[in-house]
Amino acid sequence: KQAAAKGSEPTPFMAQYLGIKERHPEALLFFRMGDFYELFFEDAVEAARILDITLTARGEYDGKPIPMAGVPYHAAEGHLARLIKSGARVAVCEQTESPAEAKKRGSKSIVNRDIVRIVTPGTLTEDSLLPARQGQALAAIALAKGGAEAAIAVCDVSTGRFDVAPVLPGALADMLLGWPLNELLVSSSDMDRPAIVAAAEASRAPLTERPARAATPKCGEALLKETFDVAALEAFGDFSKAELSAIGLLLDYVKLTQAGADIMLDPPQRPPVRGHVAIDPATRASLEIDRSMSGGRDGSLLGTIDRTVTAPGARLLATHLSRPSLDRSEIESRLEAVAWLVDDADMLERLRARLKAAPDIERARLRLRLGRGGPRDLQALGRALAAGDAAARGLSEVAGGLPARLAAATGKLLLDNAPQLRTFAEDLARALNESLPMLARDGGFIAPGWDAALDEARGLRDDSRRIIAELQARYAGETGISALKIKFNNVLGYFIDVPARHGEALLAPPLSETFIHRQTLAGNVRFSTRELSDLAGRISRAEEESKGRETALFDEFCARVDDLNAALATSAGALADLDVAAANAAWAVECDAVRPVIADAPEFAAVGLRHPVVEAALRRDGKGFTANDLSLDAGGEGAPRLLLVTGPNMAGKSTYLRQAALAVILAQAGCFVPARSITLGLADRVFSRVGASDDLARGRSTFMVEMVETAAILTQATPDSFVILDEVGRGTSTYDGLAIAWAAVEHLHGVNGCRALFATHYHELTQLAEDLPGAANASLRAREWKNDLVFLHEVQPGPADRSYGVQVARLAGLPKRAVARAAQILKRLEADPDAAESLPLFAAFAEDAPPAEAFDPPQTESELLRILADIDPDALTPRDALDIVYRMIAET
Ligand code: ADP
Repeated sequence: KQAAAKGSEPTPFMAQYLGIKERHPEALLFFRMGDFYELFFEDAVEAARILDITLTARGEYDGKPIPMAGVPYHAAEGHLARLIKSGARVAVCEQTESPAEAKKRGSKSIVNRDIVRIVTPGTLTEDSLLPARQGQALAAIALAKGGAEAAIAVCDVSTGRFDVAPVLPGALADMLLGWPLNELLVSSSDMDRPAIVAAAEASRAPLTERPARAATPKCGEALLKETFDVAALEAFGDFSKAELSAIGLLLDYVKLTQAGADIMLDPPQRPPVRGHVAIDPATRASLEIDRSMSGGRDGSLLGTIDRTVTAPGARLLATHLSRPSLDRSEIESRLEAVAWLVDDADMLERLRARLKAAPDIERARLRLRLGRGGPRDLQALGRALAAGDAAARGLSEVAGGLPARLAAATGKLLLDNAPQLRTFAEDLARALNESLPMLARDGGFIAPGWDAALDEARGLRDDSRRIIAELQARYAGETGISALKIKFNNVLGYFIDVPARHGEALLAPPLSETFIHRQTLAGNVRFSTRELSDLAGRISRAEEESKGRETALFDEFCARVDDLNAALATSAGALADLDVAAANAAWAVECDAVRPVIADAPEFAAVGLRHPVVEAALRRDGKGFTANDLSLDAGGEGAPRLLLVTGPNMAGKSTYLRQAALAVILAQAGCFVPARSITLGLADRVFSRVGASDDLARGRSTFMVEMVETAAILTQATPDSFVILDEVGRGTSTYDGLAIAWAAVEHLHGVNGCRALFATHYHELTQLAEDLPGAANASLRAREWKNDLVFLHEVQPGPADRSYGVQVARLAGLPKRAVARAAQILKRLEADPDAAESLPLFAAFAEDAPPAEAFDPPQTESELLRILADIDPDALTPRDALDIVYRMIAET
């Protein structure tokens, strides 16, 4: 459409534009022209629509006006953010030479331009486009060996983090969701593979299809070697074919989005040998680990417990919760650090205050390496190193040993241990001004005294400015025009300005020999002099020189960042680790959480366990949370492995189930657990399902989802897994639902043999606890008090009694007669489930009965009516009938 049409020769400018546009037809082209990024043709139409900016036209092409829209360079980030959010991708095309350079080259009007970057949802680095406390991930998934082997490669281009892991094809989705995905890459040859389709769907991330050529082991290997400048891959360990393919897919794309510039990622990290807790997408959503059901961070586990004070710390904590560990020594090392800090409140407070001063070293480092950084990023590095050093020194002064994890972080952060980093940080502190411009090219960020050449250039500039001020006084004296001023504007540069009525004097000899006329305006006449031009020239040369010098100094610092990259990455990691330990300790103190004891056996024994999120919400309302105990043991001895939880609606069943699953996640993330004590064996998987019936209108398809998810648990849970099932089976008819729930309990108990909590309103299921050796009942009861139902939220052994449903109905304001009738039907059904077929119509609702309002019982008759309502005529013996008549007479 936009290619040169036959017959009409495009202008050189259009030819340049079309040539560049052709290379990235899929992206909106931001075409730099002076202080604007301009968009043309359909790009302009689309951008104008998304950004709500004016669509104009510029020139003609092929006989038609060319649509154009533009955004100012300085405001581009906000516009970029909106375009990316709306699903667009943007190719940023910059001028690669100045107009002066173009002229020198002999080009009359066009400067050279080139694409410097493709902005996509997964490759952002700007602070303003990225939530600071949230990581971002660009992931690539690939299959090998005919689909038998899969792998995932994930990177965060804003921090340099790069992970690679082999994965079973069926577990791709579970694995992917351990990262905060912004974009998912799939090779075109894999697009129809079921495992890939399922993973892509579950990830809900924007999908980018890439040509198959990059997703090969060969390409992956070549890109790895090139990126990390190694001759052999052994340094990173053994990669499978699928891993190399995923790496190829990922790195090729990163390179593309950086317009071919070097890839700035840290060496690939492999998953720990023992791996992470597998958490499938449904479980992740239902436990609200890092986002709540409504989609935000508030109300999630992460949002509730996060006390980190640095952005890298916040992102690391999110990682820990999203991918809880299966490595006992790793978990114990995290817990030990938290425990140590919990015990020393003063130290904890001081440590956190020092960490708070640390800016986002990770993202600043990457921006500088990518050539997108500015003076403020340099300052961030210097300040973060200083804050890390201060934090580490505080810790190292402690008498007695530090826990291994804190000692390791301290060792990495002490600048005494890293002389090069120390010099770098000190240099930055001296070299940079306090307040800094966004961009290096704006100049003025290097402090006086740092660089002699710069000081000299600035001195020259300032001297000349002073001389100009003196010149103004001298000219005013010599001409006798006290209103004579020396001014500056962009068109004339420096000039002498006098009011019009004095103009004649300067235009006539002898003064006209000195003063050269430049411009006559209505009220003023403007002149220059040889002397002034000389001075102006000196100033502009000095200014250019000082800017050039500053740019050179900035580049020098950037080069040092490159040299120190590995050391800076280490510091960043240690800082984040310290912050997470301190934050977890602060939260543990605040909410009175305890260190979990990790056991060898698949048990779970908690005393006084609480739900951190529900408790926090209740606390905001000034209410307390009732702690409960829970004992499960999949090893067989003592405690049951499966607990059936019954109780009325709103009694706290879901909360009880979820707090157990969250305790597992917290413990294996290395956090304390809100309980009086807790011992648990590590869970290889955590499953959580909630029955679908809450939304009956959604009907069968929801039930289908529920069943598919339940199937996943029954086929995947191992004796080490931890399962909570909440009201499963509710999404269908009573008997179907009961049958499914029944079978699920039996399967979990007999086949999976895992620790499981099963909440149900099917009272019939409680009977299973008697038949299955590893199952038991527990219930959340409500008490009736002054005609009110009070939820105690206390868990007790044994099943709930059945009457609560009818009680709740009465509390909800159901007419008394209806409540009484319900109780009566219930009694009949309990005695004989088949009775449903033959239940007699309640007399009052029979067809020949008077309209309903006539039955609204007058107060005086209420007792009589109550007696009547209790009658089941079909079950009445003549003797009963007579009794009732006597009672009714007694009442009147
Ligand atoms: P159910 O699953 O039995 O219908 P929920 O677990 O959803 O009940 O709990 C209903 C409400 O009761 C919760 O939103 C919470 O406000 C309150 N609640 C639940 N458990 C407790 C508890 N242990 N202590 C205090 N309040 C609780």
